[in-house]
Amino acid sequence: MLKITTCIISMVCTIGCQKKQKIVEQVSYMYEGDVFMPMDLPTPNSVRAGSGAPGHAYWQQRADHDIKVTLDTDKQYVTASEVITYTNNSPDTLRDVWLQLEQNIHREDSVRVRESGSTGQDDFEGIKITNLELDGVPAHWHDYATLGLIPLHTPLEPNQSVSISLDWTFPFPTVNGIRMGYDDAYDAGAVWEFAQWFPTPCVYDDMYGWNNLPYIGRGEFYTNFGDYNVEVTVPREHIVVASGALQNPEDVLTKTQQERLEEAMTSDDVVAIRTLKEVASSESRPEGEGMLTWKFKTVDIRTFAFATSASFAWEATSVAIKDLDGSERRVLCMACYPKEVESYWDDAASMVKHSIRYYSESLYPYPWEQMTVVRGIEGGMEYPLLVFCRGRDEQSLFNVTDHEVGHDWFPMLVNSDERRHAWMDEGLNTFVNYYSLESYYGNQEHRPDVSAYRAERYKNDLKAINTPPDLLRSRGHLSYRKPGYGLRLLREEILGQERFDIAFKEYVRRWAFKSPRPSDFYRTMEDMSGMDLQWFFKGFFEETMQLDQGVVEVVQEQSDGKWEAEITLENVEDWVCPVKLEIQCEDGSVHKRNLPVTVWAWSTRHKHKISLPSRVTTVTVDPEGAFPDIDRSNNIIHVGM
Ligand SMILES: [Zn+2]
Repeated sequence: MLKITTCIISMVCTIGCQKKQKIVEQVSYMYEGDVFMPMDLPTPNSVRAGSGAPGHAYWQQRADHDIKVTLDTDKQYVTASEVITYTNNSPDTLRDVWLQLEQNIHREDSVRVRESGSTGQDDFEGIKITNLELDGVPAHWHDYATLGLIPLHTPLEPNQSVSISLDWTFPFPTVNGIRMGYDDAYDAGAVWEFAQWFPTPCVYDDMYGWNNLPYIGRGEFYTNFGDYNVEVTVPREHIVVASGALQNPEDVLTKTQQERLEEAMTSDDVVAIRTLKEVASSESRPEGEGMLTWKFKTVDIRTFAFATSASFAWEATSVAIKDLDGSERRVLCMACYPKEVESYWDDAASMVKHSIRYYSESLYPYPWEQMTVVRGIEGGMEYPLLVFCRGRDEQSLFNVTDHEVGHDWFPMLVNSDERRHAWMDEGLNTFVNYYSLESYYGNQEHRPDVSAYRAERYKNDLKAINTPPDLLRSRGHLSYRKPGYGLRLLREEILGQERFDIAFKEYVRRWAFKSPRPSDFYRTMEDMSGMDLQWFFKGFFEETMQLDQGVVEVVQEQSDGKWEAEITLENVEDWVCPVKLEIQCEDGSVHKRNLPVTVWAWSTRHKHKISLPSRVTTVTVDPEGAFPDIDRSNNIIHVGM
């Protein structure tokens, strides 16, 4: 809170040659809690440097997965076997491994069901682990619903790996299963979306040790990078798309489809791999009997999702992007959707292409081979190389697809902890989406709505942006819109585009394929912009400070044909920002000034002196409404004669 702690009114007698007394009112408005004091951030060390870059001894764990999964569509049942190679790159010896078992969110003993009564998937038997071995030796585990604790047979020393083999089953959740879901609204067959569906080690890191928060569903996921080999066995009539490149097209595609896919890899135009007409024809699937196994492979991704359906039409194009070394590479951009949404999905592959190109150019080259958008029950959710999107119409389809594809930079590339810091992916992504949307639509209509921000703040601003999402009621405001708007404010009003962009891109480069924490972001933005931003991140991200700038009075006098004005400005609430001033004069001239934030370093009042060609008639603070000023009634003053 800001309070006026000192109010000195002193009478100073000045006896000048004119022998008159002048009374000077001297009022001092001091800060009690100083917004300019350094933030309370973790002490830099060899893992995380004071610059905000990864330290010279940065480490992270690795989990490589080989999974074989079969979907029984009649029984709606999943059977799988999995080998996880877990590598301990930490300097610590581990005696246990924590597993995430996210689909147990539907089980009656999960935090989510005990909290809310039901997920809509009642009597869910959960994930049954039928076999567990560590380096080939049977092992036991402790079952805590969405978490499992595996005691290791022998301690896992630094630089050692352990092979964790699991056989497991679970019933496919037939409600919209919180990111994973089943959609049977289509004539040619249901769409099955698999996400957060397989047991995988929690992250062990330098900040929290094991990141073993339960999966409640509001926070998304924080996982290890690893290589994935996944074999998906589904009915022959299905098309499967996944977080990986297809390894065996000759087994699962017709000759024509293989040729079309080859063509799409070098084509700027959209190529139909399987047309809507062909969906109904058995000739659009390879001849033969029985289920088919689709094999996928990807290196360095943080999870693996896939979608499968008999109803998918499949379209693809590709886009050339420049890698960091300047070489060119084409990325396959694809869409899968049923005929029922044809009227607005026929542009979806091109939409993916826009987003892959835009973010590759503005942030970091997209590092993987392909990206697919899939129509299913999930409204919008991101995974590596694959996004789920529902879309009501063409515009919402683009807006959501662009957002979900943007997530392949935050957090699929820059692997932040979504369970603790949702803003580090949603907020950064919302911010970059503004510019991608403006580029796609070619106008300025996608700026953040500052008046909506002001209207929301009393309702929803009760917690700070940097609050774990499981504890937030208004994730939309605090994880998405407020940080997205805050970063736009930082770029356009505080740092300027050049300084901001250099720092922001460097943050992505430094933390690509690594896991930053908020302090690494704050420090990198300061380190690379050359500006103290502690007051900014403290007030807007870490605390719930508010901004109210005002203009109090204008005193002016004419001297030597010029007008000398002294404008008194006030900072009413506890947050601070630079001040944008617009001064209108009687002769019609308009004068703009940008005062740095440090005008508030000593006092909540600031007197700005300015020499003008004519008498001041109006002074406006923040004339464009760019700042999150909560009371604009004191932002303008008209000066009488
Ligand atoms: Zn998102």
